[in-house]
Amino acid sequence: MKTGNGSEKTLRVVEALVPGACLCNSVPENKHRYNAQNMKTIVCLFLLIGAAVAQAEKISLVGATVINPADGKVMPNATIVISGDKIERFAMGKQDASTLGKQIECVGKFILPGYIDTHVHFFQSADLFTRPDGADLNSVRPYKDEVAWVKGHVNDVFERYLRCGITSVVDVGGPFWNFTVRHLADATPKAPRVAVAGPLISSVSREKLDLGDPPIVKIDGPDQAREFVRKLAEQKPDLVKIWYIVDKDHPVDAFRPTVRATVEESHARKIRVAVHATELETARAAVEEGADILVHSVVDKPVDDAFVKLLKDRHIILCPTLVVFERYGRTFSHQLNLTPEEKAWGNPEVIASLDVTKIPQDKLPDRIKSALAKPDEALDRIKKTYEVALPNLKKLEDAGVTIAAGTDAGNIGTIHGPALFREFQLMKEAGLTNMQILQSATVNAAQLFGGDTGAHIGKIDNGYFADLVILKSNPVDDIANASDIDTVIKNGVVYPADSILR
Ligand SMILES: [Zn+2]
Repeated sequence: MKTGNGSEKTLRVVEALVPGACLCNSVPENKHRYNAQNMKTIVCLFLLIGAAVAQAEKISLVGATVINPADGKVMPNATIVISGDKIERFAMGKQDASTLGKQIECVGKFILPGYIDTHVHFFQSADLFTRPDGADLNSVRPYKDEVAWVKGHVNDVFERYLRCGITSVVDVGGPFWNFTVRHLADATPKAPRVAVAGPLISSVSREKLDLGDPPIVKIDGPDQAREFVRKLAEQKPDLVKIWYIVDKDHPVDAFRPTVRATVEESHARKIRVAVHATELETARAAVEEGADILVHSVVDKPVDDAFVKLLKDRHIILCPTLVVFERYGRTFSHQLNLTPEEKAWGNPEVIASLDVTKIPQDKLPDRIKSALAKPDEALDRIKKTYEVALPNLKKLEDAGVTIAAGTDAGNIGTIHGPALFREFQLMKEAGLTNMQILQSATVNAAQLFGGDTGAHIGKIDNGYFADLVILKSNPVDDIANASDIDTVIKNGVVYPADSILR
């Protein structure tokens, strides 16, 4: 079994041979003035490239049950042929061994496209100190230390995603540093593919998060919004994100023109807009103003038929992020319900920090003090949120709205990587079928990821990236099996699951 960087090495060979990738594009004007020497050089280069591609290691996963949520098909005794970083082909039944390259026996296993978490935040660690605007614990651990820790643990977070079979993630908002994270992920074999939004265009300010490169930027009016989108566009964001926070001082209508201007300016640059809007009327306003993606469930009211129709007509993708709705309340009231996956594959320092009883009483912010004093009230609020959010998800799914799985990982108590398996449990509680859950985390999530990469992930099909998860038991029978991971394949490189975290 290939456990190293074999195919990535081959790819690097190709890059070395062809600096700047495509030779043809580097000589656009005087195409017809090549002299013989130039032509010879070009022919040589193409021969060399051909040799490098021919050497791209071919491996075949033989005999597994292949589950392709894109079309809902479950194919027994299938073979997936991987050439370099791509799926070359897949087929059922016995194959000609001479065409398979190196064979990996997968009888009794289940192969899916790698999972995709479409709502994470790399600027947050999920520890207790990561959102001082929500619970100010600067006197225990200064926020600048937290930020330094986060920046020093990006590779650790990447590996935890891979360990969970998550081969792509979407960071839907953070500092400009997010663009560095995307670059790092692109340059790191043992990392998921990363799509990012930059700083959130917000209706409210969050000064406590501003150490010079704030993740949340308060925008006052349409002109400022347009200017900020232009600044963001320079970084080629995968999405522009709006934080549409509503309270008595910030009514829905007050921020609406800013939302409209943000959408117009983004769409003019072919950038999609994702919006945080957790109330029905806020979400409706966001979609009416042209948003493409809703990054949370509606949690205040049951969605009505007009809203469901609006989402369908506009081809909106909705990411429910159910797990995050329980984790602040449960952490603060000392009733955290981390799953075995989270305990095993979450960062141990992050998890250790979440025990609020270890914080000296006099340093506890009021929000945590009152949650600790009345834990039942905290649980009751979570229950009420789910009484709305879960039926809303079921209604949208039944109506055919595109649902993309996402966790909001990085928020306090929502663990980077394995939080996705808690999300699956909650989607199941909402009444989604196991196949619908798998669709939300693969083919639908790929749509949210977007771009050329999004068009080549989330499916098992010819020409798609070889990003796969191999399971020991069948997740279509029981979604809990989605975490029964044997092997993860990212970009054609095979990682035995147990080898990923050091
Ligand atoms: Zn979020």
